[in-house]
Amino acid sequence: MNPKKDEKKITPRSQDFAAWYNELVLRAELADYAPVRGCIVFRPDGYAIWEALQGELDRRIKRTGARNAYFPLFIPQSFLSKEAQHVAGFAPEVAVVTHGGGKELDEPLIVRPTSETIINHMFAQWIRSHRDLPLMVNQWCNVVRWEMRTRIFLRTAEFLWQEGHTAHASREEAEQEALTMLEVYRAFCEEILALPLVTGRKSAAERFPGALETYTVEALMPDGRALQCGTSHHLGQNFARAFEIRFLDANNQLQYPWQTSWGVSTRLLGALIMAHGDDQGLRLPPAVAPRQAVIVPIWRNPQEGEAVRQAARQLLGELERAGVRTHLDEREGVTPGFKFNDWEMRGVPARIEIGPRDLKERRATVARRDRPAAGARFALALEETAAKMPGLLAEVQQSLFAQAREAMRRNTFEPKDYAELSRRMAGEGAGLASLFWCGAESCETKVRDETRATCRAVPLGQDEPGGRCLVCGEPARERAYFAKAY
Ligand SMILES: [Zn+2]
Repeated sequence: MNPKKDEKKITPRSQDFAAWYNELVLRAELADYAPVRGCIVFRPDGYAIWEALQGELDRRIKRTGARNAYFPLFIPQSFLSKEAQHVAGFAPEVAVVTHGGGKELDEPLIVRPTSETIINHMFAQWIRSHRDLPLMVNQWCNVVRWEMRTRIFLRTAEFLWQEGHTAHASREEAEQEALTMLEVYRAFCEEILALPLVTGRKSAAERFPGALETYTVEALMPDGRALQCGTSHHLGQNFARAFEIRFLDANNQLQYPWQTSWGVSTRLLGALIMAHGDDQGLRLPPAVAPRQAVIVPIWRNPQEGEAVRQAARQLLGELERAGVRTHLDEREGVTPGFKFNDWEMRGVPARIEIGPRDLKERRATVARRDRPAAGARFALALEETAAKMPGLLAEVQQSLFAQAREAMRRNTFEPKDYAELSRRMAGEGAGLASLFWCGAESCETKVRDETRATCRAVPLGQDEPGGRCLVCGEPARERAYFAKAY
């Protein structure tokens, strides 16, 4: 370790957002570049955040009735061609295996870009009667999409995700399932990741290949670009027809089931980093922080050291019993200042310092990562520190959400005409535009081609908007959110 080198500041976020993001990911040791272009390595600190997030989301998914399963990585190439829109959507980015065991394969295999095809192939064999429905499975796995332009966590050739796949007896049930998962994702992102969102359905142009309807949760990043955080698709009967999934209904008639699929990926790590990070490093919401609190003992001589460390170890035990994921930093040979910077970089929500004077006064000095350095430190009675920490972490969680929501509010606007939309999208920090839209694809295409903003979400349950389309001037069908997107 070279403290001098490591103490170098990262590029300020306001100066170059992309450079700030990349440097932060590397310096906080979340991920690294892999030898294969477009692939990344999840380092233990990055993977631990994914595991925390995964554990909480997995519980929420299971509560809806879905169960976990695992399907193979390799899919016969012919499966992809069975659903016409699906193949058109995915073929360009599919990786194909042509050789195995030193021989050319009779049929090439694709490396799954998503698993609709293989899962529906199996569903066709498992679903016979209405009593087999609903069938709801989820899998946590990796998928591969041959991306030419990659960015750590946000767009990589291989990424981790969960994909849920369900089959239902009626259209209404499938629609309800797609909306249930939209709500699961919204609540999860807001409550656990402290990410404020807009939700709604996708326009036809942005829909998942082969879906009747795609629902989405979208966050706005501090650089004014939107990030799709999760999607839930109502697939109708398209895949059931393509894979010949049929069931006997209560009247003994053969029917095609109605289906959904839904997923979130390791992109969420990118969203977390961008939404909450600052020039000192990461700021992790306590709900997903691998270390929620870190104790830094401070001493000048061995005698002090022994007493301080003993108190620190006792506090560690108390915090662990209080359910706080705590780390005690007993590293030798680095200064307390170095340790403070290091834990700030890694985004630990609460830092607890114990020095000789603290010990004499039976207190701990606490610093909250959600607050700017000045005024962030305060004292707690040593005996009460462990008991107060869960409440304090809940406050940090709320505070990060409130700050992100305020940033989103500042970056959301209602353009009064097309010129204002163009001007804002051309500038720095483009933001999220809420605008009246006729719903025509031609207007959407014009906005995309001229401003690079795309339709991110059309909020559900809108009343008659009453306005006129910002692009063509015809009566508007609805309000929609447009933004430049990751
Ligand atoms: Zn229009």
